[in-house]
Amino acid sequence: MYWEKDLEVLDRKHLEKLQVERLMTTLQQAVNSPYYGRIPEISKAIKSPIHSIDQIRELPFTTKEDLRNDFPWGFLSVDKREVVRLHSSSGTTGNPTVVYHNHHDLASWANLMARSLFAAGVRDTDVFQNMAGYGLFTGGLGFQYGVEKLGCLSIPAGAGNSLRQIKLMRDYGTTVAHAIPSYLGRLFDVFKEEGLDPRKDTKLHTLVIGAEPHTEEHRQRIEEMFGVKAYNSFGLSEMNGPGVAFECTEQNGLHIWEDAYVVEIIDPITLQPVAEGEIGELVMTTLDRVAMPVIRYRTRDLTRFLPGKCKCGRTHRRLDRIAGRSDDMFIIKGCNVFPMQIEGVLMKLPEVGDDYRITLETIDDQDEMIVQVEVKKEWFKGDLAFLDKLQKYITRLIRDEVLVRPLIKLVEPGSIPKTEGKAIRVFDRRKK
Ligand code: ADP
Ligand code: ZN
Repeated sequence: MYWEKDLEVLDRKHLEKLQVERLMTTLQQAVNSPYYGRIPEISKAIKSPIHSIDQIRELPFTTKEDLRNDFPWGFLSVDKREVVRLHSSSGTTGNPTVVYHNHHDLASWANLMARSLFAAGVRDTDVFQNMAGYGLFTGGLGFQYGVEKLGCLSIPAGAGNSLRQIKLMRDYGTTVAHAIPSYLGRLFDVFKEEGLDPRKDTKLHTLVIGAEPHTEEHRQRIEEMFGVKAYNSFGLSEMNGPGVAFECTEQNGLHIWEDAYVVEIIDPITLQPVAEGEIGELVMTTLDRVAMPVIRYRTRDLTRFLPGKCKCGRTHRRLDRIAGRSDDMFIIKGCNVFPMQIEGVLMKLPEVGDDYRITLETIDDQDEMIVQVEVKKEWFKGDLAFLDKLQKYITRLIRDEVLVRPLIKLVEPGSIPKTEGKAIRVFDRRKK
């Protein structure tokens, strides 16, 4: 069962042919923008058209810096009058980035989103509650229009206010909900405080989780807590937002929609394609966007292509879950560490709660990695000898995983301050 059979199961040869055609149209559109208008390789590719999708490598990359430097209008490829919406990042670390859409772009995005949800088993008979923030964050409106296109009854709940979320779920019989994974542990706690069990007291059968890195172990916890299937949803604002890559009901990696994007995985140092199946940086080109095409965008997300065909029959390649962002990685005592390595260790332990925080600090001129770990209520009470053993055990597991000995602090559930929106896992307070 497919949303758009002809595109989703298109054989690779025809899919690549379609990509070449759409890439040429995209370049012709992109060159209207001040930024791409200045890039000689783009004008050259328009004059002597490319014939194979691999030739995309002759075009230069676009980076987040490029988007920032030409803020706010440098990448706009149509007249401003044609633009009907923008989404923008918060810009806490410099100029924000902004993405513009015209009517065509929004319709195309909603369609990709509907296709993604359909692949994850969502149908027009479902009641869909979107617990993502509405506004500039793409997880709100991005899902909203996709859910409507698919034909579900949509509940645009927005983020937070767990009591209200639970009431909405129960009043309207929500069957599918979308949220960022770091929120769902909190929501579950509120269910418990209310004396409710989401497995029995709701009609939920599916959760869609994404927008932030999480491990397979974290997914499994969420599935157990809510008694549902939780599907991984990947996207980024520069490529619209959600609806870029999504798990189908096989749950074996995320199909990335190759009729809408050219997808490359490169070695971030040599900038050359990695060998098939190796981890590298995801690079993406829009193929169906008019107001603001983006060519060879370096996402900084690290992942790999999964080998083999998917049983569902879709021919679009599958990405492995995102291992982290190149800019999430930190170096301590000479070792490269990704927060997800630590999450992977913690989420396997039944005593550990859903939240943790990594702080890097200079103590007596030594850089240290402090990991605050929430311990579940039932384990946190009393027994100091047990907690002492647990602390040593976690220390050893993490040291074996990342090769740095952490300072583990076991804390009560709920004591790690929550961040607004996506979880921030690492705080670097080292003396530079
Ligand atoms: P920001 O860069 O401000 O977080 P976005 O909302 O565009 O803005 O976030 C996109 C990023 O979120 C992606 O580049 C990726 O790092 C992360 N992300 C999105 N979905 C997932 C997912 N399913 N798994 C892991 N990371 C994800
Ligand atoms: Zn599949």
